[in-house]
Formats: sequence, C-alpha cells, structure tokens
Amino acid sequence: MSGDPACPRCTGEVLAVLRLPHTWTNASGRPVRGHGEVLLCARCDAGDPLATYFAVHGTARPEHAALLARLLRQWLDRVRPRAPDEDALRAEAEAWRRGEL
Ligand SMILES: [Zn+2]
Repeated sequence: MSGDPACPRCTGEVLAVLRLPHTWTNASGRPVRGHGEVLLCARCDAGDPLATYFAVHGTARPEHAALLARLLRQWLDRVRPRAPDEDALRAEAEAWRRGEL
C-alpha cells in the first residue's frame, strides 16, 4: 500500500497504526493533549499473532472479524502504555470484591 508510513525501527512494512489520545502536563503545569502512535511492523513484530495473521492472510477478512478483534485486543494490551498503578488498583478492587479488605 503506498502512502503508508515505514517502520521507524527497521523501515519495514507497517501493518497497522494505533493512535492513542495522550494527555500530559507540561513544565508550566498545563495539560497538553496529543496522541501517541504505536505501529505494528511486519518485521519487528513478526512474533506477534496479529502480525502472523496479516502475514498469512495479507489483509483483514470479514469472516475473521471475531478472531481479528481478539488479536487486536491482545496486541493493544501489550503495546498500550499503562497507567502506573492500574494493576494495583485492579488487584485492590478484586480483593475488595472478595471481601478481603
Ligand atoms: Zn520494523
């Protein structure tokens, strides 16, 4: 596909681009909004099941929508920058639900 960005790591083929809204606080304490991009590269992410899917099928097929949704979600979970204490919060909520707190 022409016009697609090349992978900044290896200049290889980019299979998917994820744009994430991203807000941070600048030096003067004001919130700044922007977005971060995460790329799925055919070469760098060759071990990823989502990259494997595209290597095998070439393109997203409608009949694989459920599988693709699952692969995408797993990929997002791996690449998405997490809030630092998200896991701790979840563990705490889980413990609270079990009546341990
Ligand atoms: Zn790459």
